[in-house]
Amino acid sequence: MPANRRQLLRTLAGAGAAAIWADSDLEAYQGQVNTNSKPSDLKITDMRIAVVQGAPMTCPLIRIDTNQGIYGLGEVRDGASRNYALMLKRLLLGENPCNVDKLFRKIKQFGFHARQAGGVCGVEMALWDLAGKAYNVPVYQMLGGKFRDRIRLYADTDSSPDTNVMAQRVKERRDRGFTWLKMDVGVGLISKIPGTLTQPIGLTPREAFMTPHMFTGMELTPKGVEMLAEYVGRVRESLGYDVPLAADHFGHIGLNSCIRLGKALEKYNLAWLEDMIPWQNTELWKKITDAVDIPTLTGEDIFLKEPFIELAKAHAVDILHPDLASSGGILETKKIGDAIAEYGVPMAMHFAGTPVSAMANVHCAAATEGFLVMEFHSADVPWWEDMVNGIPKPIVDKGFITVPNAPGLGVTLNDEVVKKHIHPEFPGYFLPTPEWDKDRTNDRLFSFAGAPARG
Ligand SMILES: [Mg+2]
Repeated sequence: MPANRRQLLRTLAGAGAAAIWADSDLEAYQGQVNTNSKPSDLKITDMRIAVVQGAPMTCPLIRIDTNQGIYGLGEVRDGASRNYALMLKRLLLGENPCNVDKLFRKIKQFGFHARQAGGVCGVEMALWDLAGKAYNVPVYQMLGGKFRDRIRLYADTDSSPDTNVMAQRVKERRDRGFTWLKMDVGVGLISKIPGTLTQPIGLTPREAFMTPHMFTGMELTPKGVEMLAEYVGRVRESLGYDVPLAADHFGHIGLNSCIRLGKALEKYNLAWLEDMIPWQNTELWKKITDAVDIPTLTGEDIFLKEPFIELAKAHAVDILHPDLASSGGILETKKIGDAIAEYGVPMAMHFAGTPVSAMANVHCAAATEGFLVMEFHSADVPWWEDMVNGIPKPIVDKGFITVPNAPGLGVTLNDEVVKKHIHPEFPGYFLPTPEWDKDRTNDRLFSFAGAPARG
């Protein structure tokens, strides 16, 4: 309390002071107590799902209900099955959601790389939302506080075979205020032009798509490298060199083609080359990173911190790129950012969900010192922001999201808007899920030793 305020209260001791407190401070202090919630007695009673489509991805939202009327929102990673979350329900019923780390460790064995982690991570977001609502604090505060008030976004931009259209799309995003851009540069742009791509005769697009890059036998010819570089060059020239421009979705070409293409792109000063080969191949990534003088980046499909640390320690890529809905949720992703920063590696954040998952990213980014930039995939979805309330609009303002101060993740659902965008194959809005309440399975990660403990 400021000294002049203390003095004033002393002077007005008695009835006068009480009147002053009643008007302002008392109200504020009462606001700190969630009268619906007694955190120590809080228990999870239900988990329900609503699957949104066209955000632009398909995104299953999670709602975890409690015995005290407050609920937590989370989101399974875009494109993943809602069942990855529902299968965890039996492990959560009756638990206190405020024990976020304990529950995360209980469920984390049911996650794996990429979409399979979507359930574990989505539940973790909802637990943080609940803990924040129970104690009336924003999630970033429970992580140790903020390093920044606004989170910088990069705008993803889908490819067009027409360079002028592509340049226009990227420039339009910059004109809307985005301060960091990304474009797709796939071999699909040139694959129909003779003499650009060598590939085994009869290799179907599906085979090429499903086979890891090093095993397709696809290599760019010098003409192919030149045409792709020219494509990027035209976009870069038209945009100018002052704003970061990253590139992604190169296609499943071999390692040497990646290096030749990377070298040809050096003069366009790209912000990064993304996922040129699978993240699992640390040594191969290092070859690309050492050969090409543009930052390299991977990580959107990694679950848990250990593989990130391995990549950072080896300096196999220049930037790591967890998707919080695959990497292990809010706390694990902060741990990732903190661990890789020790090796001088910054954390960009992959993201393609609704505002619920966006807020999980925003709180984590706010609380992680080594954060660089977060993806925004929904620049062309006009109703994206309307899905939530309880946060100042526009949520995305000139390429940034302001970190919310409301309890938990800081958003509530706009039921009407979300209901309009429910996936027709998965109808219903947070319907009961009693079929997921119970199961019988022995999920121990180590063997039973036999001898019982002394009673
Ligand atoms: Mg990507």
